[in-house]
Amino acid sequence: MPPVTAETILDLFRRVGALLEGHFRLTSGLHSPGYLQCALVLQHPGEAEACGAAIAERVAALGVQTVLSPALGGIVIGQEVARALGVRAIFAERQDGALMLRRGFSLARGERVLVVEDVVTTGGSTRETIEVARSAGAKVVGAAAIIDRSGGQQGLDVPFHALAAVTFPTYQQDACPMCASGQPVVKPGSRT
Ligand SMILES: [Zn+2]
Repeated sequence: MPPVTAETILDLFRRVGALLEGHFRLTSGLHSPGYLQCALVLQHPGEAEACGAAIAERVAALGVQTVLSPALGGIVIGQEVARALGVRAIFAERQDGALMLRRGFSLARGERVLVVEDVVTTGGSTRETIEVARSAGAKVVGAAAIIDRSGGQQGLDVPFHALAAVTFPTYQQDACPMCASGQPVVKPGSRT
């Protein structure tokens, strides 16, 4: 298998139509002219597996015992990273607005956890997932994503690895030039 580089990852996103351009409202609430729809890559199990293996290679030295992902976006890639590392994969999900472990998932005190997401934008959901692990007593040894679109501003307090970085500008709604020009905003992934 050829080595996975940032360029091969972005080529893959373009090839499957996962790199969208327009006027989007991101999960974070920010507006942007670009959106990466990771699900369109991860729907192909072979591509998902290759992304997982590439992340696993980058975190091999961290001694990961468990991969923890936030639902839903992180589940598929978390599973594939865990497969490549030979460890278990669990996920946190929202109940009454707060991210938590459900379904009988648990973490042991001191368990070495890697938090895995598909895309890190503001780092907010990654930080929240890190807190879920810490409040269970686990040790978060790192975080990883397929795409870093934070522009280096994710501000995590653990080592962070991404396969590729993409920087689209993002705007608060009241400062968004596309809103100002009357272009309809699309919430990616929603049915229209
Ligand atoms: Zn806008």
